[in-house]
Amino acid sequence: MKLIICHLYPDLMNTYGDRGNMITLYKRASWRGIEVEVIPVSIGEGPDFGAFDLIFFGGGQDKEQRLVCQDLITLKRSSLIDAIEDGVVVLAVCGGYQLLGEYYRTPGGEELPGVGALDIRTEAGSGRFIGNVVIESQLPLGGAPTMVGFENHSGRTYLGDKTRPLGRVIVGHGNNGRDGLEGCVYKNAFGTYLHGPILPKNPHFADYLIQKALSRRHGEVKLPSLDDGMELRAHKAAVAHARKCCH
Ligand code: GLN
Repeated sequence: MKLIICHLYPDLMNTYGDRGNMITLYKRASWRGIEVEVIPVSIGEGPDFGAFDLIFFGGGQDKEQRLVCQDLITLKRSSLIDAIEDGVVVLAVCGGYQLLGEYYRTPGGEELPGVGALDIRTEAGSGRFIGNVVIESQLPLGGAPTMVGFENHSGRTYLGDKTRPLGRVIVGHGNNGRDGLEGCVYKNAFGTYLHGPILPKNPHFADYLIQKALSRRHGEVKLPSLDDGMELRAHKAAVAHARKCCH
């Protein structure tokens, strides 16, 4: 079995160690004997996104978002939408999350067009949301119902009818600091504001994504369990720390 991962704009959309998500996916699949191929895709390329098992789109500041958004629309939009509709697993963080939606309006009022694959809209607010985040997720995650990460964004994201939240905020701001929701889920596409990076801090979510990604092409896959004692202790310590200092 092989896991084929697309790393979207690794050279531009890669803040707060988001690349660590790729390392986690790579390691956790390899430890189970699953071959992994990571294919970087950047400006000027228009691949068939349906050929990937998993697509990772990291965060970036407004400047980088401005650089990639036109390329996204012209070269990648329709194939990305088809792939998401077809159940390809996508993890998009912060700036990447925003650009999979309808648009992101910057603090200066400029509207950066998004792919429109996710039914979400994002507009910058007056201040930035910065700090640790803990959410409780409805996803059937093994290990812990919580996810923990770090947010830093001015965008306020609102979900439309076609998406559901990734989780409910326990600590931090999440999508917009108002409705208590964080991230979004549409089919097998997951958007979130959690940097950190999110996957090493939440190994149960990493496995959830790997399992879903493999199951699309290979039928229901059950991942052999790993010894996650240390990882889950680290997760719980990060949750406890965030609850104590940021609540
Ligand atoms: N530029 C976006 C915002 O501030 C995204 C930031 C990020 O990816 N960390 O809302």
